[in-house]
Amino acid sequence: MQYFPQTPQSLWIETETIPHFPTLKEDISVDVAVIGGGIAGITTAYVLMQEGLKVVLIDADELLKGTTGHTTAKITAQHGLVYHELIKHFGKEKAEMYFKANQEGAELIQTTIEKLNIACSYDQHTAYIYTNAQEYVKKIEQEYAAYNKLHIKGELKDDIPINIPVKAAITMEHQAQFHPLTYMHALVKQLDQQGVMIFEHTEAIDIKEEKNIKVITKNDKTISCTYVCSCTHFPFYDRAGLYFSRLYAERSYLLAIKPIKAFPGGMYVNVENPTRTFRKSFIIMKSFY
Ligand SMILES: Cc1cc2nc3c(=O)[nH]c(=O)nc-3n(C[C@H](O)[C@H](O)[C@H](O)COP(=O)(O)OP(=O)(O)OC[C@H]3O[C@@H](n4cnc5c(N)ncnc54)[C@H](O)[C@@H]3O)c2cc1C
Repeated sequence: MQYFPQTPQSLWIETETIPHFPTLKEDISVDVAVIGGGIAGITTAYVLMQEGLKVVLIDADELLKGTTGHTTAKITAQHGLVYHELIKHFGKEKAEMYFKANQEGAELIQTTIEKLNIACSYDQHTAYIYTNAQEYVKKIEQEYAAYNKLHIKGELKDDIPINIPVKAAITMEHQAQFHPLTYMHALVKQLDQQGVMIFEHTEAIDIKEEKNIKVITKNDKTISCTYVCSCTHFPFYDRAGLYFSRLYAERSYLLAIKPIKAFPGGMYVNVENPTRTFRKSFIIMKSFY
């Protein structure tokens, strides 16, 4: 049975229609220029708009066609084995700040969904990080000890609800998943309705830090602003960061399938390489059959 069109596409992009916006064709002046129309840029523009700032959002391509259009869309503070390492390198207080920041991000999504009544298949699940490699069992135990130190609710387990071999796992409760583009579409609609200027096919190529900051676009237009938020995922403006030298290419493959047995719920990621991640999709559209 074939679920996808001939050329595989992102499930999210295939099942949501995001509106299009024009290219910037004149110089403009705003309080904040947000560069990049993925989840980071659109959320930033949405939050700043609510603070009453005059905001412009630009994207080099089209909104939400970057990483956000190809994500697994788990909303979780369980990003691999991080908490033991964070405590070890930065201390308990900074590790707590990291967890809290992740929780606040998740809460922002949840409250926005409730406020705008967005039907984006949001539901909460327990997240599992697991290993089937003996050398990672100790690391899982150390991570669990870090959860306890940081009062993160979770359990140490030796199996998971999916029937695959597992040596150790840790749960994190009340995590969530959603259709990211249905959620983002609602925010884009809000931006548009509230007068935030949005431009697609408008690439920022430089920032001039004069009295007023100037963002220069590829078609030689200027956005004068007080603040710039660079949400491009890849740094286009380096200043003295040498960020380009830390970039490297990585590719992941995601499959949407209809399993033989019903998916038991939960969101899963393993520790070892290659990384494997599972979540339940939303109801698959008829057109995929
Ligand atoms: C396979 C996969 C699975 C993932 N799963 C998860 C997950 O389950 N949970 C999770 O939290 N994270 C996950 N992530 C990570 C998450 O998807 C990304 O961190 C997030 O989508 C990045 O959003 P962004 O807005 O920063 O970048 P993007 O969505 O890439 O948006 C950046 C935008 O900036 C634009 N842009 C770039 N340069 C310029 C420029 N010079 N001028 C103007 N515009 C520009 C691009 O066109 C693009 O639209 C996953 C990532 C991948 C690849």
